[in-house]
Amino acid sequence: MTVGVVLVGDELLSGRRTDANGSWLARRLDARGVALTGLTVVGDDPAAIAEAVQHAATRARCVVVSGGLGPTSDDRTRAGLARALGVALAFDEAAWASVVACLARRGRTPPPGERRQGEVPVGGRWLANPVGIAPGLALTLGDTSIYAFPGVPREWRALCEAHVLPTVVAGEEVVARTLWSAGIPEAEIAARIEPLVAAAGLDLASYPHDGEVELVLRARGTDAASRLEQTWGAVRAALGIDAFVPPAGGGLAHEVIARMRAAGRTLATAESVTGGLVARMLTAVPGASAVLPVGWITYATVQKTLRLGVSAALIERHGVVSEAVARALAEGARATARTDAALATTGVAGPEPVEEPGRPAVAPGTVFVALALAGRETVCLRLDLPFERTLVQRHAALRALDLLRRALADGSVWGVGR
Ligand code: ATP
Ligand code: MG
Repeated sequence: MTVGVVLVGDELLSGRRTDANGSWLARRLDARGVALTGLTVVGDDPAAIAEAVQHAATRARCVVVSGGLGPTSDDRTRAGLARALGVALAFDEAAWASVVACLARRGRTPPPGERRQGEVPVGGRWLANPVGIAPGLALTLGDTSIYAFPGVPREWRALCEAHVLPTVVAGEEVVARTLWSAGIPEAEIAARIEPLVAAAGLDLASYPHDGEVELVLRARGTDAASRLEQTWGAVRAALGIDAFVPPAGGGLAHEVIARMRAAGRTLATAESVTGGLVARMLTAVPGASAVLPVGWITYATVQKTLRLGVSAALIERHGVVSEAVARALAEGARATARTDAALATTGVAGPEPVEEPGRPAVAPGTVFVALALAGRETVCLRLDLPFERTLVQRHAALRALDLLRRALADGSVWGVGR
């Protein structure tokens, strides 16, 4: 079974509206092992619509057109379809009656002279719209079935559910498993498992999310599930502590919250360069309150001393962007909050370097993240992040969280590792 989609709307071409319909149908089909042959976007122009539909029909046995079926002059899909089929538009009394009946249920009548929604290309059928007014259309072009549905996402979904999805023959069985990594470039992490994945005949897709990478392994066809399971163990072994499997739908912050909750442990944050982003990422996860009782944004140097007891002499000796200050911040936060762990960040988000009298300038992107843990030596990481300001902050926050994740996963802390 092959399916193509044509999206109609000037608002999609201009970027004023982001497509929801093509991506929704693509996901629904992907879940059945059917990939779209193409997804084309055209403006409200009958010639462009006709050309796109004809082209899609050469590649797919089913073409679904979104939008342009409403009552206004910019709704040109009916004319475009008639042109693609080389037929005229005919007025269909029953289609029009359904429009009038829908409007009547809402206490409205059609504007005088406005009867566009009753038009159907000759040889086509109209399809009742269960959740809106404009009828859908069903036509054939050679061997290809053509459907056209209103662009309002709720109506599009209802008509696809009613007319397209039931006719789509499931493709091969597809099973997938996902793992995540943070702080390692996507090409590097993927390269470590590509040979394993290729040898097992699986697909590997990687989706970078600015500092986190999502890796999806897919198996298709005969024995898909068992082939995926066999390779999964080898993939986990090859990536070791560099990869993790967060709770469904989550990433690194979800993983940290889940592990801290499982261990029954608490965390505090002391943030400078990240300006609260570490705490924000953690508190975006439901259940964070069991883990994170408090976080500080000690942005000014003097606040590091006043709030968290970082010695002024230490800051004077090492500079505020230094390993010594990152460690002291983490330890100060842990002691002040009386938590099991604390994360700290200090650095230069940029774009300008940090200049302190009598000290070499510290370049933008220089960041120290530190983790203080009960009963353990504090650990600190120096990062050189070659990004613009907000990305420096994001990467720094993720690397801080990943420091804690690694400590929890290596098994020696609180006996909670894998
Ligand atoms: P209506 O009967 O409401 O006029 P229609 O078939 O004419 O339906 P459009 O006029 O193209 O559809 O779009 C209706 C609404 O749906 C608009 O707000 C439009 O921006 C939105 N829309 C259209 N296509 C898409 C799409 N692919 N993704 C998301 N929204 C869309
Ligand atoms: Mg439109």
